[in-house]
Amino acid sequence: MSKHNPFKIAQAQLDAAAERLGLDEATHEMLRWPMREIHVTFPVRMDDGSVKVFHGFRVQYNNSRGPTKGGIRFHPAETVDTVRALAAWMTWKTAVVDIPLGGAKGGVICDPHKLSNSELERLSRGYIRAIGTALLGLEKDVPAPDVYTTPQIMAWMMDEFSTMQGWNEFGMITGKPLPLGGSKGRGDATARGGMYTLREAAKVLGMELKDAPTAIQGYGNAGYFAHVLGSEMFGLKVVAVSDSKGGIYNPKGLDYKAVMAHKKETGSVINFPGADNITNEELLELDVPVLVPAALEDVITDENAGRIKAKVIVELANGPTTPEADLILHDKGAYVIPDFLANAGGVTVSYFEMVQNAYDYYWDLETVHERLDKKMTAAFHAVHEMAQKEGVHNRLAAYMVAVARVAEAMKLRGWV
Ligand code: NAD
Repeated sequence: MSKHNPFKIAQAQLDAAAERLGLDEATHEMLRWPMREIHVTFPVRMDDGSVKVFHGFRVQYNNSRGPTKGGIRFHPAETVDTVRALAAWMTWKTAVVDIPLGGAKGGVICDPHKLSNSELERLSRGYIRAIGTALLGLEKDVPAPDVYTTPQIMAWMMDEFSTMQGWNEFGMITGKPLPLGGSKGRGDATARGGMYTLREAAKVLGMELKDAPTAIQGYGNAGYFAHVLGSEMFGLKVVAVSDSKGGIYNPKGLDYKAVMAHKKETGSVINFPGADNITNEELLELDVPVLVPAALEDVITDENAGRIKAKVIVELANGPTTPEADLILHDKGAYVIPDFLANAGGVTVSYFEMVQNAYDYYWDLETVHERLDKKMTAAFHAVHEMAQKEGVHNRLAAYMVAVARVAEAMKLRGWV
C-alpha cells in the first residue's frame, strides 16, 4: 500500500490538468470527487455455521461518457481512499483510450487467503446482493477482476446478479471465463496494449527496439506478458526481471520460457542459472534504454529518479512514479508512457467483452488484437501531441486529453 494518500495524489494530478486547461470551477469541483459512493455491510455464513460481517465499497466516479467501469479488490488493507483514487484513474483511463465508459472501483475488506472456496463464493454473492440491481448493470456500472479477484469470482457475481434480474446479464461484469462470455485476448491485454504504446514511442523517438536491453519489474500478469510480447513482437533483449523476492540480471538476455519454468519450480525468478541476483532497487537503475515497472506503486521517487538511466519507461503498474519523480524524469529527458495510458489495454479488452456480450457474437483473437492496437495507437498519439503542443510531461498531457474529454461530455449534457 502506498505511503502517500492515493486519493490526494489523484486530486493533485487533476488540479494541475484543470489549471492548464482553464476548467471552470464547477467542472473542476465535479471532477475532484466521486459522483456516487456506496458503503455496504453484509453478513456471510462461514463453513462452521457462524456468521461474519464484512464491509465493502463501490465508488462510481463519473458516468458522463457512459456506464462506469472498474475492478473489485478483495484485500485486508482496503481503504476507501485507495478505491476512490482507483475510480478516478479509471475515469481518466477510459477517456484517454476513448471508450464510451466512465470510471469506478470496488473493494471488500477481507483476506481471501483465509476463506474457503465456498465462503469466497458466498462473500462474492453477498457483495453483489448488497450493492444491488439499482446501482449495477450493463447500462449503469460494470465491475471486473482486480487484486485477489478472479474469473471464477466474476462468474459467481454474474450468476447472482442474473438470478436477481430474472434473466442472464453476462455483460454486467467483465473478466469472465470464456464459456460465460469472456473475451479472447483478455489474458495478455494489459501488456499487449503497453507494447503497442512502446512501439509508437520508439517511432517518435527514432529508437531501435530490436535487441534493446530492457528491465522489467514484477513477473505477474503484466510483467511476464511484457517479457513474452516484447521478445516476440520486437525482439527486445530483456536483461533483467524481478518479483517480490528480488531480481535477476544477465546482459546477454533472459529467455521467458526458461525464467517462467524456473519461477514455477522454485517460487521466484531469483537464483536463475547463468544470471546474477540483483535487488529491485538495482533493477530500476540499470543502464538500459527500456524500463517496465509492472509491480507496485511508488517505486520511482525523488530519491532514485535522478539515477534512472532508461530512455523510455512503460508504466504497466498503477502509480509507480511519484509526482516529484515525474518532474525529475522529465527534466532528464526520459520518455514516460504514463500508467493510465500504458496499462489501458486491460480495460479496452474488457470494453470489447461488453460489446460482444451485448450483441452475443464473439470475435476471433486477430480481431481483438487489431482493434486494441487501433485504440492504443490513437491514444498514444493524442497524448504525445498534447505533450509537444503544451510543452508538458506525458502524464500531465494524458490528464489534459482525458479530463478535456470528460469535461466536454459534462458540458454537452448540460451538467456544467
Ligand atoms: P500480479 O499479482 O499478477 O503480479 C504482481 C507481480 O509483482 C508479481 O510477480 C509479484 O511477485 C511482484 N511484486 C510484488 N511485490 C513486489 C516488490 N516489492 N518488488 C518487486 N516485485 C514485486 O499483478 P499484475 O496484474 O501483473 O499487476 C501488476 C501491476 O499492474 C499493478 O500495479 C496493477 O495495478 C497493474 N495493472 C494490471 C492490470 C492487469 O490487467 N493485470 C491492468 C492495469 C494495471
